[in-house]
Amino acid sequence: MSGNAKRVQAIQQITNRPPYPIAPSEPLESLWASDVFTLNKMKGSLPKDVFKSLKKTIETGEALDVSIANVVALAMKDWAMSKGAMYYAHVFYPLTNLSAEKHDGFISVQSDGTVISEFGGKVLVQGEPDGSSFPNGGIRSTFEARGYTAWDVTSPAYIMTTDNGATLCIPTVFVSWTGEALDKKTPLLRANTAMNKAAQRVLKLLGNTEIAPVNSSCGAEQEYFLVDANFVNSRPDLLLAGRTLFGAPPAKGQQFDDHYFGAIPERVQVYMQDVEEQLYRLGIPAKTRHNEVAPGQFEIAPVFEAANVATDHQQLLMTVLKNTAKRHGLVCLLHEKPFKGVNGSGKHVNWSVGNATQGNLLDPGSTPHDNLQFLVFCAAVIRGVHKYGPVLRAAIATASNDHRLGANEAPPAIMSVYLGSQLDNVFEQIKNGEITGSLNAGVMDLGISTLPVFDKDAGDRNRTSPFAFTGNRFEFRAVGSGQSVAGPLVAMNTMLADSLNFVADEMEADLAKGTELGAVILKVLKTIIDNHGAVVFGGNGYSAEWHKMAVEERGLLNLRTGADALPILKEAFVEELFDKLGVLTPVELASRYEIYAEQYILAIEVEAKLVVSMAKTGIYPAAISHLSGLSSTLASMKEMGVSMDTSSLSKTAALVDAMMASVAKLGEAIAQHDFETSEEHMQFCAKTIRPLMDEVRASADALEAEIADELWPFPTYQEMLFIK
Ligand code: ADP
Ligand code: MG
Repeated sequence: MSGNAKRVQAIQQITNRPPYPIAPSEPLESLWASDVFTLNKMKGSLPKDVFKSLKKTIETGEALDVSIANVVALAMKDWAMSKGAMYYAHVFYPLTNLSAEKHDGFISVQSDGTVISEFGGKVLVQGEPDGSSFPNGGIRSTFEARGYTAWDVTSPAYIMTTDNGATLCIPTVFVSWTGEALDKKTPLLRANTAMNKAAQRVLKLLGNTEIAPVNSSCGAEQEYFLVDANFVNSRPDLLLAGRTLFGAPPAKGQQFDDHYFGAIPERVQVYMQDVEEQLYRLGIPAKTRHNEVAPGQFEIAPVFEAANVATDHQQLLMTVLKNTAKRHGLVCLLHEKPFKGVNGSGKHVNWSVGNATQGNLLDPGSTPHDNLQFLVFCAAVIRGVHKYGPVLRAAIATASNDHRLGANEAPPAIMSVYLGSQLDNVFEQIKNGEITGSLNAGVMDLGISTLPVFDKDAGDRNRTSPFAFTGNRFEFRAVGSGQSVAGPLVAMNTMLADSLNFVADEMEADLAKGTELGAVILKVLKTIIDNHGAVVFGGNGYSAEWHKMAVEERGLLNLRTGADALPILKEAFVEELFDKLGVLTPVELASRYEIYAEQYILAIEVEAKLVVSMAKTGIYPAAISHLSGLSSTLASMKEMGVSMDTSSLSKTAALVDAMMASVAKLGEAIAQHDFETSEEHMQFCAKTIRPLMDEVRASADALEAEIADELWPFPTYQEMLFIK
């Protein structure tokens, strides 16, 4: 089939497709969490003492007794089988940004040949998947290839229903035979623990007597693109790399701003409702949906939850988005930059910390006491981002996020904090020591009375900041759309733990000297803002002036690419941070660096190979056909004595030549393999391979404008973005 015939067929299939049947929706009350083994369901099906013991484990993180696990397993199995599940799976989160699972049946064959269903506490609590097929960054080669999964009681089990049946899914951590974390959940739980410990210290020093465990919360806004599957199937780049490596911009792009405010297209709305229904069944509180800036781009945001649960739910949400799209004849692209020249997709990670007794510690609140507490936690975040900004940057470093960060649509690669003018002003006062005078009389009064009412208005947002205070939380806006939120949350909780420990150390020392509490607090706030205020920036993060000022005057790092950012994970201060807080051992951290570096290199190499093959086998033949038709016509015209303009012919020929010359250079670059270190290899990918890919693309995209439309082999931007 010629390129054109394929495209025409795709468009016909899309326009003639029958509407997707929408099943009548159940009422929300019966739909909600119907596929989750919730605390409530456990309460209803477990003996009282067992439930109490389990609840304690969930709340305090105490070890689960095996006899308890046996009882829970039985209840869980009965519930799962009543929902049609014959299999269970330990779901874990390897370092791939995807979820992994190993399925086992409840079936147990007896000696007399009959079968019973069986699911004991031991298999609920612990599993042993063949870990050797997951990235381990060298940890595994020194030890055995074994991996263990262990039930994370704080994240509820659920039923995943696909066309192939129902499976009981148990969220687990995934560790090596020697206990090293091979996944994203283990360090997240550890970082939460470290943050809780440090927060407890500070809260106690601030005078609180009753302090419940402090946990972090996360609400992730997910952006995505939807493209018809017929188009994706004829685009090797979208199919294998998740983004287009070729494609001239359409005449109409996003410049009319008509997508964001427009009505959601019907087909997409049907898809969204289907997604939401499944999310509700899974107890995922999807709340907001809308079109995004680019044509074909959308957003979904659930209500925030405890970070660990939110992270598991985020993984599930990505799975549901992708799987449901398939059923609707669509493909959901979670790539950070699927279309050149069109806004990319991010994931805004809204993050706060709090507990049951003191509430949200990042909420400025209205009472003076809360406000001082808030200022301490807020200052701790500022110190964290300043001291460990490069770690935050490394936590979002992927080959795909390189295309988005620093473009004029997403925050720059420079990590800074936006506070808003009101908080800026408060910290300015602290810096000037202006509130010292009244500390004795009523610390809080003066400190607080100068605090204006915090504006939570969306109008007060700074969309150019990677790390913005948004009323009662921070929003890490530079995270990639396809990423697990675990890494960023680990980085945030760890840097906060370190800062809170710093605050506690300072306060303890000063209190020991007999200094009065108010003065102690003011001093530590001032120390932090004096030493770390350079990270606070409220201006335009997209501007060239900021990029210059940030680096030259403020000493902040501008780690433009993942190749620049990932090696941060090898620095001594980072190793020390994660090690001393018990989040990642040096071995675990080193393995992570190796894995992420390898993923970075692989991603770019796969794309480069696709560029070569698509140019050679798709675009080049189309261009030659075009040239041959054109040149023979022009020749016969000339014979007939008709003179015609041949500039298009020569332009096309020159572009084909240029493209193939770049393809040859790119092919040579891909063949290079003699690199001493992964740093060197990453830099080669970023600085040599990528520019060559761009070179090929420049000629190819120019050819798209010259060659007869009916010969063009790939669905165009116009088709993919606008036909639904
Ligand atoms: P927008 O940033 O587009 O205005 P929303 O107001 O809808 O978005 O909120 C974005 C996300 O922030 C949602 O997931 C919401 O639940 C979450 N969120 C709200 N408050 C908090 C909080 N205190 N901690 C963490 N996340 C929060
Ligand atoms: Mg937001």
